[in-house]
Amino acid sequence: GSTIGILGGGQLGRMLAIAAANMGYRVHSYAPDEEIPGGDVSAAVTRAGYDDLAALDAFAASVDVVTYEFENIDVAAVEHVAKIVPVRPGAAALRVSQDRVTEKEFVADLGGRPAPFRAVDSLSDLAVALSELGAPALLKTRRFGYDGKGQARIDNADDAAAAWAAIGERPAVLEGLVRFDAEFSVLLARGADGASVVYDCPKNEHASGVLALSTVPGGAPIAGQVAEATALARKVADKLDYVGLLTLEFFATDDGPVFNEMAPRVHNSGHWTIEGARVSQFENHIRAVCGLPLGDTSLTAPSVRMENLLGDAVHDWRSILADPRAHLHLYGKSQVKPGRKMGHVTRL
Ligand code: ATP
Ligand code: MG
Ligand code: MG
Repeated sequence: GSTIGILGGGQLGRMLAIAAANMGYRVHSYAPDEEIPGGDVSAAVTRAGYDDLAALDAFAASVDVVTYEFENIDVAAVEHVAKIVPVRPGAAALRVSQDRVTEKEFVADLGGRPAPFRAVDSLSDLAVALSELGAPALLKTRRFGYDGKGQARIDNADDAAAAWAAIGERPAVLEGLVRFDAEFSVLLARGADGASVVYDCPKNEHASGVLALSTVPGGAPIAGQVAEATALARKVADKLDYVGLLTLEFFATDDGPVFNEMAPRVHNSGHWTIEGARVSQFENHIRAVCGLPLGDTSLTAPSVRMENLLGDAVHDWRSILADPRAHLHLYGKSQVKPGRKMGHVTRL
């Protein structure tokens, strides 16, 4: 009869809550959002800001352990909650992954290879960075970006001012544009005892900066790069004494795996594990957070394909439901916005 607190109320929280409920746990979701897809399937919901200390206190007092499903949660809120109840993964993982520069430096220190990058705090910094890295390059805000938001591509030095304006003149990082054969991710679950398991690496295809498709097995260019990428993910998890599911995104290149970014949480590229793996990323996250042994990550079918259902697309529900190998997931969001993640379909 334990209760798990989840900070963040999106579809990741929803799928975590469903996995937790299947295991007999109660879930209390906490999020400031108007719509809380995770709250729909939780036993309790608090709709309050991450700066509302009284609400955070009451939340922390009502649960046995806390986790989060969104990496842009105020670290101060997580640290506040952690004084009252264990938070897994800890605030350190959140702090590192909230800032693209900190994250790249952290991973590079462990032997990872990010794309060439420069921190940029002004338009003149950007000019210097561009002269050093050359174009094409990507300018990304250091903080709060997701689904390709807060990014501008620079094809030549004349684009610099427009790119700086486009990202809102905020602290940023300039990255060399990586020429990759494919993108893939490492999904690693680590328990409090330090034991870890990994899933087969999905090949990930994006459209306009948003994940569109994940396929397992990832295929040729990825297969040869999985060992190095997985070893790096293990180092990252060990260094952070990470408990839960951790995701690292990579580009498969001629020179091996190039680190893109990490997420201290379950990940869209792991949704295929609900039906495509013996124990899903969500269940393994809950198991880790609750101190239980981790589950088998092996595939339940020779190949698995997960397609995101994005806001403005028209979907033929009948044909999806008529496919015996298809599993339809809808997140119960009422507000449809272009590119918004409304659901996904997994085909075994
Ligand atoms: P997420 O929703 O995954 O958190 P995000 O907004 O943090 O997305 P990134 O993962 O940094 O964005 O970039 C989104 C996509 O843009 C990448 O998956 C990749 O397809 C492309 N991209 C990002 N950085 C680079 C790069 N340096 N070179 C080439 N392509 C890139
Ligand atoms: Mg990201
Ligand atoms: Mg990404």
